[in-house]
Order: sequence, then structure tokens, then C-alpha cells
Amino acid sequence: MIKKHLEEKLPEFLYNFDTNAPFTHCIMCNEDLNSKEAYAIEKVFKQHKGIAKPEIVYEYAICMDCASGVQDEISEESMESLKNLYEEYSLNMLMKLEYLHETEKYNIESWTERCSFTGKELRNCSEYSVSAIIEGGKMVYEHAPLAVSDEFMELVQEQMSKKTRDYFDGFKDNFFDLPPEIKNLINGPTVGII
Ligand SMILES: [Zn+2]
Repeated sequence: MIKKHLEEKLPEFLYNFDTNAPFTHCIMCNEDLNSKEAYAIEKVFKQHKGIAKPEIVYEYAICMDCASGVQDEISEESMESLKNLYEEYSLNMLMKLEYLHETEKYNIESWTERCSFTGKELRNCSEYSVSAIIEGGKMVYEHAPLAVSDEFMELVQEQMSKKTRDYFDGFKDNFFDLPPEIKNLINGPTVGII
């Protein structure tokens, strides 16, 4: 059964990379995250062959109000295809979630060893993203935290309409100052789509 478990302590993995402290503001509305009931954090990583430590490409925190605003931007057509894609992988995902809840593995490492959807090990991905939800200052273990492999993100990209893809490219350009050589990342922001 998928339970909802709240963990008091925020894993350091989810801290802001630059400040080494928890995120303080929503990337979109810039409001104080402590004034929000819930918010999400996403981090996108790139991995190079032969280098043990993954490189963080970008990261952000977004309040749930803004996240649902993003969701409204996704075309109906994209939503429908994405829903079908998730259904295809839902058995995989549910088995993983049930195992994690049953064994009470409430630590982010256990949840992010492998892609939540395909099961591909993140250490074998050239790119991946991790997202988590924080509620009342506590870390939520329910369906999230989620790990998304390059493999699954490619499938997600295929299901999105051009309009939706353009919207997410705009989101990236607006909020992150990415050098041109990593502009064509596979892993885009997953806020609102996963
Ligand atoms: Zn916000």
C-alpha cells in the first residue's frame, strides 16, 4: 500500500547547491517557501563517463500554486498522451513504491537509485532528474520523491506537443542561465507533467 510518510529532516541532497541550505523562495512568484503549505524541488544532473560525481545542471523550488499554473500551460493533447505513457509504466512504479513503503525505506537514496518509471539505474544515465515534495517543512514520501532517467525523459519528450515543449524550453530559458553546450538537455523541467 502506498502510504504517506512525513520525515522531519530535509535531506541535504535537497539543499540549494550554492548556499548549502534549504531553498527559501519560489522560482516563479519569489514568495517565501515557509509561507506556503507545500512546494516541490527539482534537480537535474548530468553525468560524464569516468567521472564519479554527477554535475548539477540546474535546480529550483516551486510552490504548489505556481506548479499548478505550469500544469495549466500543458496542452490537452500532451496531457492525454502523457497519461497513457504513465499508465504503461505504472505497474513498475507501483511495485517500487510498495516495496519502499513496506520496508519503510524513508531515505532519499533508496528512492533515487533507479528511475521511478523504467528502473534504469541513475548511475548509468548520462542525465537524470530528481524531484521531491516538501509539506509544512517536512519531506514527503508518497509517490514522490521521483527519479527520472534520460531514457524515460526521452519518452516524455516524444509525447509532448510542440507547444508544450516550447513552453518548457521557455521556462528553462527564463529561469536558468544555461551555457549553450547544455541547452539541448534531454531532461527538461518536469513540474506539472509528472
Ligand atoms: Zn510560487
